[in-house]
Amino acid sequence: MNKTEPLALLTVSPNIERLQPYVPGKSAEEVQKEFGLDNLIKLASNENPFGPSPRAVEAVTSMAKRLHLYPDASANLLRDALAKKLNVSSNCLVFGNGSDDIIHLLGITFLQPDDEVLVGVPSFVRYFAAADLNNASLVEVPLTPSWEYNLDAMAEKLTERTRLVFLANPNNPTGVMLQSSHLENFVQKLPENALLVLDEAYYEFAADTPGYPNAIQWVQQNRNVAVLRTFSKAYGLAGLRIGYGVMPKRIAHWLERTREPFNVNSLAQAAAAAALNDTEYLSHTVQTTAAERSMMTNEVLAMGLSCTPSAANFLWIDTKRDGNMVANALMRQGVIVRYSNGFHGPTHIRVSIGTPQENQRFLQALRTVIA
Ligand SMILES: *Cc1c(COP(=O)(O)O)cnc(C)c1O
Repeated sequence: MNKTEPLALLTVSPNIERLQPYVPGKSAEEVQKEFGLDNLIKLASNENPFGPSPRAVEAVTSMAKRLHLYPDASANLLRDALAKKLNVSSNCLVFGNGSDDIIHLLGITFLQPDDEVLVGVPSFVRYFAAADLNNASLVEVPLTPSWEYNLDAMAEKLTERTRLVFLANPNNPTGVMLQSSHLENFVQKLPENALLVLDEAYYEFAADTPGYPNAIQWVQQNRNVAVLRTFSKAYGLAGLRIGYGVMPKRIAHWLERTREPFNVNSLAQAAAAAALNDTEYLSHTVQTTAAERSMMTNEVLAMGLSCTPSAANFLWIDTKRDGNMVANALMRQGVIVRYSNGFHGPTHIRVSIGTPQENQRFLQALRTVIA
């Protein structure tokens, strides 16, 4: 037998070899160490800058006494509350370890080799990973020059091999929202072999914008649409990992088979149920974010930069210079924002809307950097 490197015979298939590990935004601690700075602010991961709802914290604290018990595998308490709120049957809901988990589950459940996954580019990286992981073919349609989904071009790419179509509304990294009439039109064109996955991770920030689609209606009508939402963004529970999908029960039924039985932990379930009830916290988050978003947009435009109109809790800013350089210069000023080659915007940065104080600091740092 040939001498080989230890473990060299444990090979993986070519599609697994192609997968890239997720590169998260740098944490404040990392940057603190690297640059020897203190008083850093992180506006890179679209987290809620106001912290979690006090009611969620209370629910977690009280659930902590029951950590020796397995969680409710069906998340019944939360399931019933959400089913009622959304006016869907409770078996239309699938819970996940973050909505990332639902994206993963949709991929492993529905994709077979050579199926097609239709995506806009740039968009959320986990859609691409779901296709690669399952050896499906990615069909990528670039966004328009104004960073909108090109739904006409996407509709032309629908085939009998299309299995999943991913649309984030609003999209990440651009913040741009799809209009109800445009989306309705696209939904009409979906072939029966394709499932439209509408990722509404930023739903709460966009819901009051005129023209924002009511996607749940398509689930209620049993259309081939799955809507994804999360507790990570407006609800401020990113660290606990809980998101969900709303989909016709014939689709939910398959995910109930592929998911791990205890994929959502008990702390996350309790916190999510409590956060759902804290409407005051949510409206404070949404209202403050909306006001800060329009203030920041105006300030950025006043600097001579451009910015897509955002319906989310972040801005996609064209710095009109090397975005990587701008992001690094901001970091040296103690402000962490997101730059990624994968976003296909070489002169862009993505910045989360923080607290009013954080946003002022960001704007001041940006003025310094571009001067
Ligand atoms: C943040 C984000 C998610 C993931 O959220 P989790 O529920 O934390 O996994 C999904 N989709 C988009 C577009 C996001 O920006």
